[in-house]
Amino acid sequence: MPQKIYILENLDCANCAAKMEAKFNALPQVQEAVITFTTRQLRLTAQDPDALVPELERIARTVEPEVTIRRETQVHSHGYSGSGCHTHGHECGCGRDHAYHHQHGDGCHCGSSRKANAAHMEKREWLPILMGGMLFLLGWVLGEIPLLLPAVLPVFLAAYLILGWEVLTKAGRNLLKGQVFDENFLMSIATVGAFFIGAYPEAAGVMLFYRVGEYFEHRAVERSRSRIMEAVDLRPEVVTLESGETIPAGEARVGERILVRPGDRIPLDGIVLNGESRVDTAPITGEPVPAAVRSGDPVISGCVNLSGQLTVRVEKILSESMVTRILNSVENAAASKPKIDRFITRFCRIYTPVVVALAAAAAVIPSLLWGDWGYWIYTALSFLVMSCPCALVLSVPLAFFSGIGAGSKRRILFKGGLSIEALARVKAVAMDKTGTLTKGTFTVRQVEGGNRVLRLCACLEQSSNHPIAASIAAAARQQGLVLSKAETVEELPGLGIRGVVEGMRILCGNEKLMERCGVTVNGNGSQPAGTRVWVAVDGEYAGSVWISDTPKADARSAVERLKKRNMVTAMLTGDEQSSAEAVARELGVDTVYARLLPEEKLEKLRALRKKYGPVLFVGDGINDAPVLSGADVGAAMGSGADAAIEAADVVFMTTRAQAIPEAVDIARKTRAVAWQNVVFALAVKGLVMVLGLLGWSSMWAAVFADSGVAMLCVLNSIRMLYKK
Ligand code: ADP
Ligand code: MG
Repeated sequence: MPQKIYILENLDCANCAAKMEAKFNALPQVQEAVITFTTRQLRLTAQDPDALVPELERIARTVEPEVTIRRETQVHSHGYSGSGCHTHGHECGCGRDHAYHHQHGDGCHCGSSRKANAAHMEKREWLPILMGGMLFLLGWVLGEIPLLLPAVLPVFLAAYLILGWEVLTKAGRNLLKGQVFDENFLMSIATVGAFFIGAYPEAAGVMLFYRVGEYFEHRAVERSRSRIMEAVDLRPEVVTLESGETIPAGEARVGERILVRPGDRIPLDGIVLNGESRVDTAPITGEPVPAAVRSGDPVISGCVNLSGQLTVRVEKILSESMVTRILNSVENAAASKPKIDRFITRFCRIYTPVVVALAAAAAVIPSLLWGDWGYWIYTALSFLVMSCPCALVLSVPLAFFSGIGAGSKRRILFKGGLSIEALARVKAVAMDKTGTLTKGTFTVRQVEGGNRVLRLCACLEQSSNHPIAASIAAAARQQGLVLSKAETVEELPGLGIRGVVEGMRILCGNEKLMERCGVTVNGNGSQPAGTRVWVAVDGEYAGSVWISDTPKADARSAVERLKKRNMVTAMLTGDEQSSAEAVARELGVDTVYARLLPEEKLEKLRALRKKYGPVLFVGDGINDAPVLSGADVGAAMGSGADAAIEAADVVFMTTRAQAIPEAVDIARKTRAVAWQNVVFALAVKGLVMVLGLLGWSSMWAAVFADSGVAMLCVLNSIRMLYKK
């Protein structure tokens, strides 16, 4: 069934989002509807999603009257470029808020009316708070002056109406629809009731703090949203065609020829047609050494062109290019809800009715037994103030969103809440050697069999993207050897490569490959450190190429940090035992498994899981997709390889080994923060209720337990984002 993404505009309350989601899912035509409050996205899976929109909008408005549902427009109308917007003349349909555009500086220039509108919205929010707050203070002061006592009630009433008008009108509307468990309605009963029993300051105060809390939470969510999106959005505004004309990036089609000047970010995925340059791929792969590119080489959007002007043929339009895929992966991640979130949603469905029932019981039962109606009604009203589970509904997903954001700041992309949760549980870490613990850039140390062996080997390797292959091809070119194109090539994952070059059957790979193909090797005396690639021609041993790789500078400390977190570390590699052990010893890795084929890596992983618990696998994504998807958490490091990005739960767009313990820390922290919020919010609310039942009720405590706690939980959730 098709899935489409929509934006819920004017969606302001997390609890409302949860309610809408439940209502949408109750429709028989809807297979699945997922609302992500933090990105305001609705993911709708249905036979014909578009046809359902008017109905969904109607339902959404029963919960929040101002919500509109808009199709997330295609990227080309994202409103990115000035020209795109002006020609269409309509407002920016990108679904991102203005703060976001603003911070980007690449903003949508078209929506000035929207910008004004946003400012207007803000004013509409804080102006009543300010006025109401001042009247509230005035009420207090007047209450201290005996002569002016008669003015107290009108002043508090005015403050109350200014602050609570929205809540009251929403409550009225919802009551007409029979929604008695609506938070606005319950809040209204609590405050109107407070007026009736003479608790004027409380009535106005509850509204004041409720509004302040809401305003603040709103701002906090907006801020963290733009902060996160800013970190991951590398999308270009415009592209320059070969003719010099600039067009909106979203309008560039496949096959178009675009110019990329030195210093420019490569806007779209493509192939170099003309020019030579070096390209900084660090933003995508984290690889610190710039890659040389020339005509015929692919280039990935998001990378920065460093030295020469390039003409690039567009291979992927903006919405399919790497820059958009990275952005999408963060949005998707926010939509994949962690288990704790589902638990909260279920919990909240019973929370409000239970609190309301408690309030009713508190109002009636003790009063019938012991009298003192005034006190017990006051207690009941204070319960109603705490009847919204808002603190939890907002702060738990926000904690995960912040975790995703904290990761993306360090170029760690989590695929979703579930991945973060799983990573927080991990007990053992299995790492690939090449490219994960070592730099993955080999250098050829020694060739046995002379240039003939090197050349034949390189003819095959030039078509492979394995790091070993790249080093051999580079060494041959450096020797000035002319490489012919192989007639056939076949890569054997974890073993090597074979094919036909100039009519000869060439085999390059490890000892295991030679054994399998029945080639007897006879390595001679000198043994430099490193890996040996054996070469056979027409089934006969011909020579070997010694290559070596060096461990990453931060690999040792990364392994140490993992061990400090009580995790078992293991290295899985297809390399020979001796060179694998040398690296493991140097880095302090607990266990080594060498000479493994990709499938065998999966077996070892399962053995590790049996012994220690959930396992994280980190690989470079080259030929280890099966292990990536077979691990409890699969992470791909330092490769923009498509397969890896699809299969991995976590993508490291960096080659720093330290990113592994960092990811674990963020995941554990996120889980901890989410639970802190749950425990704290429920504990405070529970405590205030118990105190009320014991005879120490106060509506001030109740409003703290509601708005104050929500604010603190939100702060706690976004703390991770602002930490260095
Ligand atoms: P790792 O587990 O270290 O990532 P791989 O599984 O990619 O290693 O490869 C395992 C071994 O297979 C390498 O150490 C190398 O000996 C051999 N091998 C793999 N691909 C190639 C290749 N293209 N050329 C030569 N040897 C290769
Ligand atoms: Mg590998």
